[in-house]
Amino acid sequence: MSRLIDGQSDCNDSREKLLEPVLRPRFLRDFTGQASACENLSVFINAAKKRGEALDHVLLFGPPGLGKTTLAGIIASELGVDFKMTSAPVLAKAGDLAAILTSLYPNSVFFIDEIHRLSVAVEETLYSAMEDFKIDVLIGEGAGAKSIRLELPSFTLVGATTRSGLLTQPLRERFGIPVRLQFYEEADLVKIINRAARVLDIKIDEKGCEEIAKRSRGTPRVAVRLLRRVRDFAVVLSKAAVPEITIEIAQIALEKLEVDCFGLDSQDLRYLRTIAENYCGGPVGIDTIAASLAEERDTVEDVVEPFLLQQGFIDRTARGRVLTRAAYAHLGLTFDAPTE
Ligand code: ADP
Repeated sequence: MSRLIDGQSDCNDSREKLLEPVLRPRFLRDFTGQASACENLSVFINAAKKRGEALDHVLLFGPPGLGKTTLAGIIASELGVDFKMTSAPVLAKAGDLAAILTSLYPNSVFFIDEIHRLSVAVEETLYSAMEDFKIDVLIGEGAGAKSIRLELPSFTLVGATTRSGLLTQPLRERFGIPVRLQFYEEADLVKIINRAARVLDIKIDEKGCEEIAKRSRGTPRVAVRLLRRVRDFAVVLSKAAVPEITIEIAQIALEKLEVDCFGLDSQDLRYLRTIAENYCGGPVGIDTIAASLAEERDTVEDVVEPFLLQQGFIDRTARGRVLTRAAYAHLGLTFDAPTE
């Protein structure tokens, strides 16, 4: 089951899919937060426009829901060029990639999500496409097969990954502009929630907005999702003619939704308790934790841990994960210093 505070897009929530195009900012001026990344991008985009060339290839990395897809679209809108997007698992064969690359308009933006999941054959085809705007494709099979070289229009590849560590060195080196997205400050989330509330015609007061921002794990996608769920509570609980999200309603709703004051949900707490109670606070390996939680290792590493690390609830050591004093305090348990 997908989590309410999971930064990943919920493919089962058709409303969420429908709302995304409406909620996504289209230009840099509407994109809140990530100030230094946006400033640099703006310089590179303007320089490419002035030279009339394709922008250098961009690698966006950071946990799910921080705005990688949104930024890729913004780069295309700011450049005033065509935008094509796909996801690495969809590109099964080199031919799938060749079909897209040969159909691009000059200087357009080609976005590949989850780029760390490319197959070896597709990744190798991408190298020459990124470097020389040329690819070699194999026509036919067996002894009669021959390789032909295709010239491609110039393009900007924007790759997104939650795990830059999984990218091979040759692929990583071909991106001229690496951009790391950070978790958002509460003040930025307040702006994002207010903007989404305006677009979705939801009435929300300042304190209600701050309460949702505080519990959104520094992630815009979570903030917008919580806003929509809290709105449902406002409709049912509010006595006003036009339901409004107030701090009281936000607190009741978020408690019912089991999102605590730090934005942790039952899965996060289960993760922390497992290390505290089953492994004496660690160090414990990621595979052991994932098995204890009956979760995929990737989910634990991509979705659960980044926020817990950023908040200082866990440490990553060479011997495994270790709970911090802050985690013990949050769980209401006594801290036993780990025996390193
Ligand atoms: P990612 O590709 O990193 O998983 P998305 O780009 O799909 O994240 O963003 C998730 C949602 O959050 C989108 O609906 C988008 O509108 C919203 N969002 C992300 N970043 C911002 C931002 N900086 N300002 C406003 N909305 C944002």
